[in-house]
Amino acid sequence: MSPDIHPCLTCGVCCQNYRVEFSVYELQSMGGTVPDHLAHEVPGKGNRARMNGTEKHPVRCVALTELPHLGEGCIGCGIYEQRSRPCRDFPFASYGCHDTRAKFSLPQLSDEEVERWAETATA
Ligand code: SF4
Ligand code: SF4
Repeated sequence: MSPDIHPCLTCGVCCQNYRVEFSVYELQSMGGTVPDHLAHEVPGKGNRARMNGTEKHPVRCVALTELPHLGEGCIGCGIYEQRSRPCRDFPFASYGCHDTRAKFSLPQLSDEEVERWAETATA
């Protein structure tokens, strides 16, 4: 991995691990940012939406996108600036991040990587 590439851009496993649910008011049609065609209303909940692809196993959010222009194997959110609250609230190098990387047998983030990239956006 290039040391100049944010570790998230060669990872993406949190977008393949969690059910991503958020308020329907985050959908574009309701005044929010998330494109409606990438999500669906959660049955029986009324006011909740869920990213397509995260409702069943194997989980893979439909917005997760290959980014070959950044390098071989690079991957990232195709709606980064429009992503929902739970995606914005999932921090790099958090417990969930470390735990998910371990679940997918990815190497542990080094202290140097965490220090260098913790405050840097991935896109
Ligand atoms: S937040 Fe963690 S698990 Fe998610 S893409 Fe970044 S490094 Fe991978
Ligand atoms: S919307 Fe983007 S950040 Fe959120 S789960 Fe999907 S690909 Fe990941």
